[in-house]
Amino acid sequence: MNLFDNFKDPQLCKTLLARIHAELDGELRFMEVCGTHTVSIFRSGVRSLLSDKVVHLSGPGCPVCVTHDSEVAAFLELAGKNAIITTFGDLMRVPGPEKKTLKSAQAEGARVKVVYSPFDALKIAQDNPHDKVVFLGVGFETTAPAIAATVKVAREQGISNFSVLCFHKLVPPALDALIGDPELKVQAFLLPGHVAAIIGVEPYRFLASKHGLPAVVAGFEPVDILQALYMFVTMRNEGKIEVANAYTRVVSDEGNPKAMSVMNEVFSPCDALWRGIGLIPGSGLTIRDEYADYDAMRIFDMQLHDVPEIKGCRCGDVLKGKMSPDKCPLFGKACTPASPVGPCMVSTEGSCAAYFKYRI
Ligand code: SF4
Repeated sequence: MNLFDNFKDPQLCKTLLARIHAELDGELRFMEVCGTHTVSIFRSGVRSLLSDKVVHLSGPGCPVCVTHDSEVAAFLELAGKNAIITTFGDLMRVPGPEKKTLKSAQAEGARVKVVYSPFDALKIAQDNPHDKVVFLGVGFETTAPAIAATVKVAREQGISNFSVLCFHKLVPPALDALIGDPELKVQAFLLPGHVAAIIGVEPYRFLASKHGLPAVVAGFEPVDILQALYMFVTMRNEGKIEVANAYTRVVSDEGNPKAMSVMNEVFSPCDALWRGIGLIPGSGLTIRDEYADYDAMRIFDMQLHDVPEIKGCRCGDVLKGKMSPDKCPLFGKACTPASPVGPCMVSTEGSCAAYFKYRI
């Protein structure tokens, strides 16, 4: 048995489940913030084993899902320019205005390439010195440091035909904004372990100190998740409200200072648009002036424009934990993974895709 098997141990899961159900007093409404947790909760069967008293809500933690309509429109605008677009695969099928996608743009002749890392995009720039190569930067604190590092390497190696269209988002300000919504009835937050591995636990303390809500940083195996839920139950029973770390094998209080330093050297915080939520102050990252020559928005003189939201899609409500995916009138009918209407059905980390796949 290796270390990871311990975090999947069925007997341990059974014990934790029994304790949660025996000691839970009243309803526990928790939001899992991250798409990786969403998929793990479904795939492991944890969700189907929890009693009705444990209410599970998905939050705004899928990077593709929270990318705003106007940002998707910017990707498509860029695909129409004379550049090579490089992107993670999940963005290819996200519908933009008039149901156009990067995949359909590619079929019409746009040069769009799927890469597995921003360094692959840099290699494409090196191999195509006469073309401009743009990497589509989406995602949270998890992916931003690697993209910042790629920009730094491009500068160090004098690669000047590489740039980033930067729409990165930051998790703590989004949670702060979500809690401000009086309709959100969340009692506890299951926090993403991989974001905390970068930023640490400290930036989440406001959940307890400012909002009086408990939160636990957790890993992604079933035992990790059930342990976090059990911690919510014991905190409540003991009258404690704190932000705890149940993922100490990966996450330290201060996070990863090296990754943070690279990220902060290349990017600075900015206001950002989130699908379904709108503008959240300080919740995005933009490229600093010092690295302006790697900023696709400036190189291609682009701006974000208002675009109509996708008709009938309720991704915004799903991302805000106000509606479960199966309550969307389009779920499983007009909207399926094979023919997605909204990004929550496109992304492998999307709640709608997880609901559809595991048919909960
Ligand atoms: S089922 Fe489809 S249309 Fe409905 S919220 Fe999910 S992605 Fe959007």
